[in-house]
Amino acid sequence: MSQALPDTIAARQFDACADRIAETARSLASKGWTPATSSNFSMRVDVNHAAITISGRDKGKLGRSDIMLIDLDGRAVGTDARPSAETALHTQVYRRWPEMHAVLHTHSRTQSVASRLFARDGTIRLQGWELQKAISGYHSHDSVLEIPVFPNTQHMPELVARVDAWLDAGKPLHAYLIDGHGIYTWGRDMAESERHLEALEFLLGCELDLRTLRAP
Ligand SMILES: [Zn+2]
Repeated sequence: MSQALPDTIAARQFDACADRIAETARSLASKGWTPATSSNFSMRVDVNHAAITISGRDKGKLGRSDIMLIDLDGRAVGTDARPSAETALHTQVYRRWPEMHAVLHTHSRTQSVASRLFARDGTIRLQGWELQKAISGYHSHDSVLEIPVFPNTQHMPELVARVDAWLDAGKPLHAYLIDGHGIYTWGRDMAESERHLEALEFLLGCELDLRTLRAP
């Protein structure tokens, strides 16, 4: 056990989540999607807790000791470590969807450029791409996969409110971009989250290529 966890938390469960987060982080870092200690990752530990990356660590070198326990209000549990600055965006997912178990946030070049390009539209509409079927619930290239682009801010409650407003309007949401910043996506387990992230990175890259090739 790597932390002084409360008795109600299964230490084995935390350790398993921490190891899985660290493994995923190293993999995403090796693709160049987490530059300069950016990005953050989490997994649900139980109904009231999540494991999340500690702020400011190199995501290519993460181990179990770089992951900490939080409650779903974003407070550290059993540690003095500081969670990621964007913890509220992770806990929002776990609070809204009990079935979601992993949240990934990266800052790849493709995600960053796409967020700037589509920010004025406030959304990216993906249609006609076979790889849309990698997103859970999408079964055809014909369907429209809409990814909102929210304005960046250092004030997390503003972003939380924008995500809530999107969902409260009844619109499906599997991921969102933040302007000039990066992407958030999630899934029922880490494998599904990784699949979503990889598919979205690919699809955003294709959209950027189309615009480059069509440019005068
Ligand atoms: Zn970020």
